[in-house]
Amino acid sequence: MITAYDIRENLYALILASLKNITPEQAFMEIEGSREMTNKLKKAGYKICSKCGVAKSLDEFYLAKYKYLGETRFSIRHLCKECMKAKEREKYRKKWGKV
Ligand SMILES: [Zn+2]
Repeated sequence: MITAYDIRENLYALILASLKNITPEQAFMEIEGSREMTNKLKKAGYKICSKCGVAKSLDEFYLAKYKYLGETRFSIRHLCKECMKAKEREKYRKKWGKV
């Protein structure tokens, strides 16, 4: 069965392949490798912030609440608390001008 997740991964592999000038298979291996690393980090209680790129412990990240099939679930945000705060500040500044 092909899931939406698989399609997204395949698309990502194709894009990565064209960007890096490698074969889609190589790109896929790279993605698999980075996912393995992400899972390993998660098991150890760490996550890499997608903005500052620093591996921080999971309590340095906010949780996002979402509904899936009527069930409330939680996921860990991609940005650490610090980066989230900076992003919010930036949003506020853009909206209201210099404070
Ligand atoms: Zn960060």
